[in-house]
Amino acid sequence: MPVTDATAKWAEDIFAKSIVPTLVDYIKIPNKSPDFDPEWRAHGHMDRAVELLAGWARTQLPEGATLEVVRLGERTPVIFIDIPASGTPSAGGPATSGRSGDTVMLYGHLDKQPEMAGWREGLGPWTPVIEGDRLYGRGGADDGYAIFASLTAINALRRDKLPHARCVVLIEACEESGSDDLPAYIDHLAARIGQLSLVVCLDSGCANYDQLWSTTSLRGLIIGNLEISLLTEGVHSGDGTGVIAASERVLRILLDRLEDSHTGQIKLPELATQIPRQRIAQAEATAKVIGHEVWNKFPLQPGVAPVVGNDVELILNRTWRPGLAVTGADGWPPIGNAGNVLRPFTRVKLSIRIPPRVDPNAAAAAVKRTLEQDPPYGAKVSFTDIGANAGWDAPELAPWLEQALDAASKKHFGKPAMSMGEGGTIPFMYMLGEKFPKAQFCITGVLGPGSNAHGPNEFLHVPTARKLSLCVADVLATHAQQ
Ligand SMILES: [Zn+2]
Repeated sequence: MPVTDATAKWAEDIFAKSIVPTLVDYIKIPNKSPDFDPEWRAHGHMDRAVELLAGWARTQLPEGATLEVVRLGERTPVIFIDIPASGTPSAGGPATSGRSGDTVMLYGHLDKQPEMAGWREGLGPWTPVIEGDRLYGRGGADDGYAIFASLTAINALRRDKLPHARCVVLIEACEESGSDDLPAYIDHLAARIGQLSLVVCLDSGCANYDQLWSTTSLRGLIIGNLEISLLTEGVHSGDGTGVIAASERVLRILLDRLEDSHTGQIKLPELATQIPRQRIAQAEATAKVIGHEVWNKFPLQPGVAPVVGNDVELILNRTWRPGLAVTGADGWPPIGNAGNVLRPFTRVKLSIRIPPRVDPNAAAAAVKRTLEQDPPYGAKVSFTDIGANAGWDAPELAPWLEQALDAASKKHFGKPAMSMGEGGTIPFMYMLGEKFPKAQFCITGVLGPGSNAHGPNEFLHVPTARKLSLCVADVLATHAQQ
């Protein structure tokens, strides 16, 4: 049973009058993830964001629900909401005790990526701006809306007296730093979480704003800092060039060990996997729906072409193949202050996406070995501050869930549901998959074309967030009948 039209109207209302205004306040808070604000405790932004979102949630708690901001030592906090089952045979019985064999987890995060340059005139990371359906600013789409969508879904069911199982909402504050704090909370809250039969993750993407998209796989991520030094101090480039290699040339040699610079292909076998046949079929189906949008959704300069002229290959590259980006650099003066110097060192931050099913620790070890062994010219080379997170390949969808997603998409978007792999990383999904091998996963999100999470001009497509909330409600109602 889907939620009623009256409730869909109610959701529209609550988004306009309560959720969007609260998200506007949330965007103003520069609560960057701990990796990007090591002084986050002293700055207090994270606590303000937690208070804002928890404060809103307290005004919206379904009957019988409890909310706690849980803090373990010096770790980033989590918001934990425990909502008893409703309208099911077990409702009011043992299911509310917190140890039900049938619990749904709804997951999101409230920490944010750093600012990034390139925001359009009038926009900025901490400057909320509403333009039509879009709410611009850092963290609205990734992933501030998640707690609002979760509670709206459950309150929609309560309104229509539709059944749902016991639900826990878990909002963490460390996702953009690899969810390092989360395993400790999962252990700490294990008894209160219970046995999960369904995980709803609201931190993923969609290929358009026209239908419900669910995510069937995620890539993993290796990060680390590569430092190259041949000199103990900078020297006159007229004196040094042709005698001592420039550290940036050694960088090029080392990066070529990882990646073919002409194709972008990663050379290390430890970072590759056999792509499952059904995922190739899914990429082909996605290409039929989105076509060139897989590449022309990006803010391209005129005349820029993608790395290959085949949409299916691009989708597979983005989801099931490794890819390298250099995301930061030290050791370079700004151009206005750049003398003719052989610089003493070059340091870059590498970000390497790895496919699902690849062992992240083995992959990270292979990257470190490849970069550090046999340094050209005997240069001092180190790859340090390594982070390694696994990708994730979804278990097969149960028929009831597949049907529920499709029915919900048709009802609230007017088009059938689609599924595809994503190129980003949500470390928690792998952890949950290991811990609850029998759970079903509904991973979805609002990160669609142009939404540009992590980049400039991030926006939340508000109607999609609202429709997604209603789809989650319908899926929970169907889940309760299983
Ligand atoms: Zn996110």
